[in-house]
Amino acid sequence: MTIKISPDEIKRQREFSKKAGEILKSRTASPIAHVHTFGCQQNVSDGEKIKGMLAEMGCGLSNTPDGADIVIFNTCAVRENAEDRVFGNLGALKHEKAKNPDMIIAVCGCMTEQEHIVERIKKSFPHVDLVFGTNALHTLPELIYGQLTGKKRVFSVPKCDGTIAEGLPIRRESRITANIPIMYGCNNFCSYCIVPFVRGRERSREMSDIIAEVKQAIESGAKDIWLLGQNVNSYGKELGTSFSELLREVNAISGEFRINYMSSHPKDATKELIDTIAECEKVSRHFHLPVQSGSDRILKLMNRHYTRSDYLEEVRYIREKIPDSAITSDIIVGFPGETYEDFKDTLSLIEQVRFDSLYTFIFSPRKGTKASEMDDFVSAEEKGKWFKELLSVQSQIGRGMYEKYVGRTFRVLCEGRGRSNEKLFTGHTEQGAIVDFDGDSSLIGKFVSVKIEQAFEWMLMGKTID
Ligand code: SF4
Repeated sequence: MTIKISPDEIKRQREFSKKAGEILKSRTASPIAHVHTFGCQQNVSDGEKIKGMLAEMGCGLSNTPDGADIVIFNTCAVRENAEDRVFGNLGALKHEKAKNPDMIIAVCGCMTEQEHIVERIKKSFPHVDLVFGTNALHTLPELIYGQLTGKKRVFSVPKCDGTIAEGLPIRRESRITANIPIMYGCNNFCSYCIVPFVRGRERSREMSDIIAEVKQAIESGAKDIWLLGQNVNSYGKELGTSFSELLREVNAISGEFRINYMSSHPKDATKELIDTIAECEKVSRHFHLPVQSGSDRILKLMNRHYTRSDYLEEVRYIREKIPDSAITSDIIVGFPGETYEDFKDTLSLIEQVRFDSLYTFIFSPRKGTKASEMDDFVSAEEKGKWFKELLSVQSQIGRGMYEKYVGRTFRVLCEGRGRSNEKLFTGHTEQGAIVDFDGDSSLIGKFVSVKIEQAFEWMLMGKTID
């Protein structure tokens, strides 16, 4: 059952925040906190709340743990190498803690929802003071206060289906982009994915809370609104509403801004949703629909609940309704039991769809998931070869996809300095393509018209026009 954190509890946490701030101030005139966030945009959004709570305690924020009073690692569990990096960073902090025994070191996020990880931190990282799970995020002020008043190590990982906490302070990373969670958790249990185990069951925020947050972000100057969830397409089911209704409501808010969303599950991307997007002029024309495999046999083993032909029909409908849209996807290579024949089905799907770009991964087993227990007969070397083959096919397609933009003019949100050259500026088109273009810093945070002059494999170059 979802637990809604009451306004009284949030108020109680604010009291702890005040008391923790007083203690921190009595120790040093300007307390410093360092928050390192790993992983997806949902985690970035959690990190912005952590920073908001620390700022309310009077902490300045630093990009490095050196000399910080509080260090928090906000972790990701999706891939093993992200977990290894966290352990590496934690190990490196041992010396900092020896120099400054008052430093509070905390670990939170998806990794802490796995028992074997908590056990490893308990045993191997005695200098970590605090571990708190994703459902305990709102209690950070109380946990920090506990540490400041002499509590021993605390491991706070409540087991429940999930919480929703409204009214937490937020310190956004960007003044242009606002990450706004619309739901948490996932009910899908794709056989390779750890998310349902670490983020709990699907739960949606009330639409009125989301709309209020979007309006506030726009009033503060945000132009790029990201609606976030593990599977946004199933937003609102338990509230008697839908993602389509939410998009219409957000689209109706006045002001010049763009609406993006992630992540989408192809099984829930209905025709009604595609029709809605076609009608909502502020919603980007970029569909990121992770297909994962082109083989029906592998899709079944992955527990994805759609077939290759369902997916192709969705792509056909998107292109019929919104011809100017871009479609991107995720592919997993070397899923347990995958044969070269299955892999060739993936290659043929890629050639058939002609994705604008692809995020490609070699399968990485996650402890606790079904796929981690499946037999896997293909060697890492062989998977590496398949992976290279996939990249080479997509590389040719991607270049062709971007060339079609040359000579056309796009509305681009200027997000900052250029990626290819510091003298240029950069942004995304409505189709999600990266463009570098000329200009000056007064353009940052504004929509500009850019004529595309050159296409590369993963980005475009253009010139601003009046
Ligand atoms: S829908 Fe996404 S988050 Fe949910 S289980 Fe599948 S891959 Fe994981």
